[in-house]
Amino acid sequence: MLDRAANAPELPAEVARRRTFAIISHPDAGKTTLTEKFLLYGGAIQMAGQVRAKGEARRTRSDFMKMEQDRGISVSASAMSFDFGKYRFNLVDTPGHSDFSEDTYRTLTAVDAAVMVIDGAKGVESQTRKLFEVCRLRDLPILTFCNKMDRESRDTFEIIDEIQENLAIDVTPASWPIGMGRDFIGCYDLLRDRLELMDRADRNKVAESIAIEGLDDPKLAEHVPADLLDKFLEEIEMAKELLPPMDPQALLDGTLTPIWFGSAINSFGVKELMEGIGAYGPEPQVQSAEPRQVSPAETKVAGFVFKVQANMDPKHRDRVAFVRMASGHFKRGMKLTHVRSKKPMAITNPVLFLASDRELAEEAWAGDIIGIPNHGQLRIGDTLTEGEMLRVTGIPSFAPELLQTVRAGDPMKAKHLEKALMQFAEEGAAKVFKPGIGSGFIVGVVGALQFEVLASRIELEYGLPVRFEASQFTSARWVHGEKAAVDAFSAANKQHMATDNDGDLVYLTRLQWDIDRVARDYPDVRLSATKEMQ
Ligand code: GDP
Repeated sequence: MLDRAANAPELPAEVARRRTFAIISHPDAGKTTLTEKFLLYGGAIQMAGQVRAKGEARRTRSDFMKMEQDRGISVSASAMSFDFGKYRFNLVDTPGHSDFSEDTYRTLTAVDAAVMVIDGAKGVESQTRKLFEVCRLRDLPILTFCNKMDRESRDTFEIIDEIQENLAIDVTPASWPIGMGRDFIGCYDLLRDRLELMDRADRNKVAESIAIEGLDDPKLAEHVPADLLDKFLEEIEMAKELLPPMDPQALLDGTLTPIWFGSAINSFGVKELMEGIGAYGPEPQVQSAEPRQVSPAETKVAGFVFKVQANMDPKHRDRVAFVRMASGHFKRGMKLTHVRSKKPMAITNPVLFLASDRELAEEAWAGDIIGIPNHGQLRIGDTLTEGEMLRVTGIPSFAPELLQTVRAGDPMKAKHLEKALMQFAEEGAAKVFKPGIGSGFIVGVVGALQFEVLASRIELEYGLPVRFEASQFTSARWVHGEKAAVDAFSAANKQHMATDNDGDLVYLTRLQWDIDRVARDYPDVRLSATKEMQ
């Protein structure tokens, strides 16, 4: 268990002002739009719309990206940093589609909080629920944004009830919507007693905000039409009776989520949400590691790789490892120890991601995400320190749920294929298994769409057409145990054995029955569906 109290020693001001979070949502709820508005208010870009515009310009350059666009999914995650008031926000983008859940799980290990975006007309949708469950595994604090209030949406109590019941978390209204759909005029900010009015004419304009002295202030009636005001006052009274008040500690514990209502496309409610993230969101948290946990208050640098992305720029065969800083004050040029290989690494060209531009990172503090270009030394789960042999824990690798064999269209290019596969395995985009008997590779993924993504990337990035075909196996399990027991097991099941891309032993099968049989016949051997990245 993490000891959050270890955060108690004074954090350096630079660390204390950092808020590192991800947005979780179902496709189409408004994550991209909200991200654009965050960047707009964060001053990272001048004009909303640039995230999308830049994204599209890039996408047209490649069929793979085109596929992403056609499917309306975001395949690659990135990190964005921007200042908002006295805070530094690090927003880590999560791939939205369920097929990329493994990547998403790992992304969520790099953040301290999540913003859950739901569509006011649709409520809690399937992908939101899945992502929420992952956040809950890590007790991540969650702030909720109910979007698209400018459209016909559900009744406010109904939305809140659905979150409470569906996700088993308490909900407290941070704001309350007034009117609905066409009649929606804005929200009452319950945390600061202000009336926020939406400007439908100018979508990029921050809402007009009017200070109110409590709910019986006559000023309310000057701005809110009588019928809406009556309904609003009635609802607020009920809300105060039925719903819990804001409790910052319960938010940090992950048992209560404050909800803001707004309309991202109209820039409405976004600023209040951002202020909420600053005021109530967690500071950089303690990171679990072996043999000891790492506190963000420590002065020595430690960080871990949660994502690797190759070929970000098709012109340069570079590969970027995304590193979450867990402690210390990193400065460009520092020599860090790559704990897995025990070798020093000079970090000379770290990058920070400001909107979709990369910039050299001159420094970074605990909580920040930097990108380190490298030639493959850095793998998911790796730890970098100033010398101490620490290993960050809790970054899982899941057994793939789908297996297929892969062949190069041109048999002469088998070596190239191996190289491409190994690279995607390092990115965490697939598992690659080399069977002990026979030739060829078996590729395992979590979602079926990933085979298509892999095939188009291998063709695009390596000029290598490939075919995926059904494999005789459907499941993979990592094998653990004393060497003698594992050797005996492996010798007796040769046709099932393979090694994964890290060289670790794997048992392949098509039957749950086989897995049960191993448990019965080989009590000293353990098969597992996850392995910790190391
Ligand atoms: P994502 O898939 O979650 O990234 O969603 P997008 O940000 O791409 O939004 C999905 C669609 O909803 C787009 O057509 C947006 O223009 C639209 N949208 C986003 N926010 C709002 C909003 O506040 N009101 C309305 N009416 N539409 C919105």
